[in-house]
Formats: sequence, structure tokens, C-alpha cells
Amino acid sequence: MAFDLDMIKQVYDRLSSRINAATQATGKPLTLTEKILYSHLTEGEAQNAYQRGTDYVDFAPDRVAMQDATAQMALLQFMQAGRPQVAVPSTVHCDHLIQAKIGATEDLSTAKDVNSEVYDFLSSVSDKYGLGFWKPGAGIIHQVVLENYAFPGGMMIGTDSHTPNAGGLGMIAIGVGGADACDVMAGLPWELKFPKLIGVHLTGKLSGWSSAKDVILKVAGILTVKGGTGAIVEYFGEGARSLSATGKGTICNMGAEIGATTSVFGYDEKIADYLRGTQRAEIADLADAIKQHLTGDDEVYAAPEQYFDQVIEINLSELEPHVNGPFTPDLAWPISKFATAVKENGWPAELEVGLIGSCTNSSYEDITRAASLAKQAIDKKLKTKAEYTVTPGSELVRYTVERDGYLDTFEQIGGVVLANACGPCIGQWARHTSDPTRKNSIITSFNRNFAKRNDGNPNTHAFVASPEIVTALAIAGDLTFNPLTDTLTNINGEQVKLDEPMGIELPIKGFAVEDAGYQAPAEDGSEVEVKVDPASSRLQLLAPFAAWEGTDLKGLRLLIKARGKCTTDHISMAGPWLKFRGHLDNISNNMLIGAINYFNNTPDSVKNQLNGEYGPVPATQRDYKANGIGSVVVGDENYGEGSSREHAAMEPRHLGVRAILVKSFARIHETNLKKQGMLAITFNDNADYEKVQEDDTFEINGLTEFAPGKQLTVVLNHADGTQDSFPVNHTYNAQQIEWFKAGGALNIIRKQMHAD
Ligand code: SF4
Repeated sequence: MAFDLDMIKQVYDRLSSRINAATQATGKPLTLTEKILYSHLTEGEAQNAYQRGTDYVDFAPDRVAMQDATAQMALLQFMQAGRPQVAVPSTVHCDHLIQAKIGATEDLSTAKDVNSEVYDFLSSVSDKYGLGFWKPGAGIIHQVVLENYAFPGGMMIGTDSHTPNAGGLGMIAIGVGGADACDVMAGLPWELKFPKLIGVHLTGKLSGWSSAKDVILKVAGILTVKGGTGAIVEYFGEGARSLSATGKGTICNMGAEIGATTSVFGYDEKIADYLRGTQRAEIADLADAIKQHLTGDDEVYAAPEQYFDQVIEINLSELEPHVNGPFTPDLAWPISKFATAVKENGWPAELEVGLIGSCTNSSYEDITRAASLAKQAIDKKLKTKAEYTVTPGSELVRYTVERDGYLDTFEQIGGVVLANACGPCIGQWARHTSDPTRKNSIITSFNRNFAKRNDGNPNTHAFVASPEIVTALAIAGDLTFNPLTDTLTNINGEQVKLDEPMGIELPIKGFAVEDAGYQAPAEDGSEVEVKVDPASSRLQLLAPFAAWEGTDLKGLRLLIKARGKCTTDHISMAGPWLKFRGHLDNISNNMLIGAINYFNNTPDSVKNQLNGEYGPVPATQRDYKANGIGSVVVGDENYGEGSSREHAAMEPRHLGVRAILVKSFARIHETNLKKQGMLAITFNDNADYEKVQEDDTFEINGLTEFAPGKQLTVVLNHADGTQDSFPVNHTYNAQQIEWFKAGGALNIIRKQMHAD
């Protein structure tokens, strides 16, 4: 499982030399974020010359981490690259597919059974290509990464939106789609819009009921769910240095809820303590030697408004515990105002379930602080009114807190310990409820609380708070209880008050674990066979897409002219379809079924030009494919906005669509289309969208002279024998044109690997 010390040494050498070069060139002090970003630019990118929020820049991340749901397609694609090993250290974590129903042991055993083909694939593909594999039950990706792989000054991408958790250890860690992970594992650069910078200056010190979670709950209230978009949030100040490393992780984790690209803290003693406490003293020693480079420069923090695009001040000494929600994580209520909000808004005051843990809040400190309240409930003869569950973030934490007696304490108040997995955090919660139509309230120490997120029930009002507030409210069974001021009645009828929670940052006896659940890859994976059952409905090996035939495209049919918004969810719906995310052909049966047909204002109903009948989009396209006919998808503005899911680009490619012609693209989707070898083009004059008729066939001309900045021409052959012809634009650079010609970026890498 070992971290790669040599790699970290190289990162630190580059960090030092690039920071020195940047400082010499400009004489300007740097934020921590700039230091880490500059040191991870690919060779050839100029330093220190980027327009924040505008320029796209190529980076070379140090690591890749993937969770089991998103890893499937990323690794199926990676196999196409023809590399014997991943280009950077990478890991797979089996955490998302475990349903929480009864308790850890039973639920884990069921998950292994139900998901065996996925786990077998991920285990064998990891073994073959040099990835670390964390088995089901080993823990949640972000906690496992924090305990094993995150390091100050590093850069990581992860196929999960809470990847920024590793910012707690001073790493720039960014959530991406599977296509990006595949690129980095295949040795390609990774592109990111150079972010804006938000500085959060923390003064004072936490005490009593307040915790690190309350920092991010407050920040979410200030910035809202969109306020961090396109920005990296850098925390600094004496307050930042006073927070435990895992508390910092909690704050960075939930930075995803304000839309931030990521969040980061500078290296300090708390981070060093955590590294040493998790058997990584060598990293702490290396970091100590260059610690001036692992935090922002003094001049920056002395006058932050000159260096950040926005600065927020929070005094930890005055910070109240917060409860955020329902239905959105940025509706922030200080606990003193929450009871009134519950009453005024008519939210169900009775608390039915309190859930602690998850990747956001399951550190030793979190568990011990929550357990100190559970212990009080026992000692003060309080009966816990709400159901209560505990989701440890990793086997390392679970084993250690069990050894130290804390799980037993939770069980004594009726707590149920769930598997070390995502479970109830991601809707994998078979919640027992007498009446799902009843409005009800739950509170979690997780990060997201959108409707249906936890139990799939739109009537559930989910609130988010620290594990200690969740525990206190679960004991009370009442959302209007304020543990800072209110009393509870115990089984003897006495009024008792909960004392402030007490926690321990790092286990006094050290962390321990019997079997962390890690599988190292084979030294030489060349003989390892990747396990995919040909009869599987969930997994399918990919075949390379065909190269461009070398001519202009003629005789293409209109598949659909989509009206209005067409997001990646319209193109490749989520929900029940996600179980097919490792099987391109099966998931392609959702292609564009959410898009509205311009000609009949109906979703999933398009005219099949071969027989004149209306039918579902995927079936129609399959008919064209079976007849060797290509097609065109026409769309409106910002086509493909939303999730970065690569399936939205792969499905049309797989089913034989040849071009996507729209008024404008969402950039990530446009890039994803290019990577798959698809032609992504835009109207030069948006009025030409109106010229497209239902029975049109298309020609796309100019491809034999396809060049950056040079327009192509579309000819529409209408059913009445008339024609329209107009220029269309594209944004392909020379490299991307090669991708198009080769039939996809991975085809090029494979060719290069064979040529070497
Ligand atoms: S615990 Fe929740 S937030 Fe964390 S990785 Fe799992 S699903 Fe995502």
C-alpha cells in the first residue's frame, strides 16, 4: 500500500526549483495554490502567466484515485491505451456499491455477492496494470487516500466530487470524470481552467461544541452552492493552523458543496502529526525540509486582498455550531437560530434518524467527540430517541475505535455500525420506514443533502451538521433541541444537560488494523487476465473505435434536432442506468432519451428516415447503424452541460453518430467528444439551426483539409430536393485533429505504445 517516496521527492525538487524560478522572474509573492499549480504544469507551459478563470492550462498530476462506480469505464478505456502499466500511481476503492441495510457484516457480504463481477473486474484490472486495489470494506476513497496517499504539495485527480478531501493534508486534489482519469493514467496531460483564488482567513480557536465542520457549514452559507465555482479555496491564518489535519480534510471535502474546484490548507504541525501518526514520518521529514514552499508566502497572508480574488474572514472563537438544510447544503443556520427556523418553516421537528461518519466526518477525533456524548447519554440515563448509525470511513479507523471501546459505546445507545463504505450517503440505504409518504427529518454528518440523496424519499428533510451535533440531536430525537442551552429529561424524570463534547485528535495507542483491505498489484502484470464475463450485463470490454475513412462525410441522416437544454443527463441519463456504466452497449440504450425532439416536442421519439416511423432515439440509431448509415445530432446552446460523464460522448460514438452540430458546447463535453474521435461542430450563424428539417440528409465537407481555425461546410439535402449549405466552426487543435483522424485519442496512444 506504500506511498511512493521517490515520487514525492521528485515532486518536492520540482516544487522548489519552479517556485524559485517564478519568484526570480516576477519578484511576486505566491499563494500556496499557485505554488502547487506551477509545480505541476507540464513541461513547456509558461509559468506565472495565466489569466485566472480564463486560460486553460495543461497539468501533470502525481496520482489518480477512483471509486468503484466511476472506475469501471475509466479502466475499460485505459485498457484501450495499450500501456503495460498506469503512467502515475493510481488506486481503486470499492466503496460506493455497498448498500446499508442491516449492519456492517451482513451488508458487506451481500455487496460482495451482488457486485462480484464488478469487484472481480476491478481487482484483476488493477492487478494487471499496476493499480492499488482497496477491497470492499476497506473504506471510503477519500478517507483511505487521506490515511495513505495524500501529501503536502502534491496534485491528485480523483473520479469523485469529494476528492478535495485530500486538501486537508495540503494537496491540490480535484474531482474529475473517468475520461480525465483515463488520460492521466495513460500519460496524457490534464487540462484545467486556471482557477480563481478565494482566501479564507481563519482567526481564533475552536472550543466547546464548535468543530471544523462548522467552518465549512458557515462558508457554504456565505458562498452558496455556486460561490466557489471555478475557484480554489485556500485557508490560512492561526485558526487554520490550530485545526487538526482531519478537521482540515472535512472542510476541504465539503468545499465541493460550494462548487469549488478544490480547497487546500498549508503544511503545518497538525499535518505533520497526522503524517507521523499514520506511519508516514518520512513524508513529514521531507515536507519539513521545504516547509516554506508548502504554504503561501507571508506577504500574501499579510495582505490577502491583493493576492486573492475574494477574501473571507472567520473568527473560530466566535463560530457557533451550525445545522444546514434541508434539501441544500448552503442553507446555514447557527444552532441558536435553528429551532425557530424549524418551527417557522414547518419542518418535521421529530428527528427520526441521526447518521454520523462518511468520508466527510469519520476521523478518530470525530468518533471520539461523538462517543463522548453517547457516553454521557449512558451515564446520565438518557434514552436515545432517534435511530442512530455510524459509518466508519476506513477499516483503520473502525478497527482502532473498536479497540478503544467507542463502537461499544455507540452500540449501548442503540447505534448501528454500518460497513466502511458510502452506504446511506449516496442513496445506498435500505431505510426501514413505516410510511414513506410521511414528511420526516434526518440529520447526518455527511456533506450533501439534496432531496432523495440519502434514502431516495422526497419527503425526507435531510440536515447536515457535525457528528457531535448529530449525536446530541439523535439523543434528543428533536430538531429543536439546542444542546448548548437546553436540558433533556432522563429515564428517572430528571432534567440533565449534555456537557461539551471531548475528543482526541490521534489515538494515544496509535492506529491499528488487522487487515486494511489492500491488494497490491502484481510486480509483472503481463500474465494477469482481466476478468470480464462475456455474458455480463454490467461490464463489457471496449473495442477501439474505427478511424476516420479519409473522405468527407456524405449521406448522414438527422437522428434528432434537440430543442432547448440538452445536458449530459438528457444525453445519458443517470439513475437506474448507472448500473450499466461499465457496459457501453447496454448503457447506450439511454442515449438522448431525455432530449426533446424539435419537431414533435416529445422526448425519445424521433422519425426513422428509413421507414418513416417514430420510435425511441437509441432504437432508431441502432437501425441506421445496422444499415451502415451514419447520422448527425443537432442541438441548441451549451449542449452537454452538467456532469463530466464520458458516457455522453461514448454512446453516440458507439452507436454510429458521426457529428454533433450545435449552437454551442459545454466545454468539457466538447473535449470528451473530441477524445472519442467524434466530430463536434458549431453553427457559424445560429440562424442556420432553423434550416435543419426532419427528413434531411447531411454532407460535411472540408474534412480532407481539416485544420485548426478552418471552417467546415455542412450541406443539408432536404426531402423536397432543395439544398442549404453553410459554414460551421470547430475548435480542434492539431493534436485533436489527429484524434479525429485516428478514431479517438486512445487509438493514438496505443499506436505510440506499439511503436516504442
Ligand atoms: S461517503 Fe458520500 S460523499 Fe463520501 S465518497 Fe461516499 S458517497 Fe461520496
